[in-house]
Amino acid sequence: MQALTNRNKAVDRKPMTLWEKMYIPSIMKGMSITLSHFFKKKPTISYPEEKRPFSPVFRGLHILNRDEEGRERCTACGLCAVACPAEAITMEAAERKPGEENLYREEKYAARYEINMLRCIFCGLCEEACPKDAVYLSETFTPANFTRETFIYKKQDLLIPDPKTEPEQYQKALGSRAKKN
Ligand code: SF4
Ligand code: SF4
Repeated sequence: MQALTNRNKAVDRKPMTLWEKMYIPSIMKGMSITLSHFFKKKPTISYPEEKRPFSPVFRGLHILNRDEEGRERCTACGLCAVACPAEAITMEAAERKPGEENLYREEKYAARYEINMLRCIFCGLCEEACPKDAVYLSETFTPANFTRETFIYKKQDLLIPDPKTEPEQYQKALGSRAKKN
């Protein structure tokens, strides 16, 4: 039969010599390959102690952003959900009540906001669609887990720490990819 590629090799069926039956050349050859690796640079890293830097265009776990006064930016307009090709985002809108101006920036806010990370393809279209800089994809990734329910990220899982009460955690979560308004 004609071969599909020219990578095939004919099998050598000659009987082995006594020297070959002792396997010494093959063992020596194998050992020399192993030894040569001792002097090469390690291609692996000791994760989690050591971490590789992410690419500048890496798109990771979503963050629901706050403004500089700590108020939630999301106005539950639904544009991110409409833009999402994986239909991974769901939300419920609510009206801001008098006295809640310090919590929500707009008159309408997301009382419930969920992203299904098992559906998400991390395309970043939700970030592109958002007119309020309220959602962006951060420089961290979704941690592994054992149950499907834990991959449905709720609003409290996605909200960035309050810059007024937790400034350090806020800056850390903000990273370098957030738009500076
Ligand atoms: S990153 Fe893409 S797939 Fe994931 S929630 Fe946003 S729009 Fe949907
Ligand atoms: S995250 Fe942005 S696009 Fe999505 S509902 Fe909130 S304000 Fe609208």
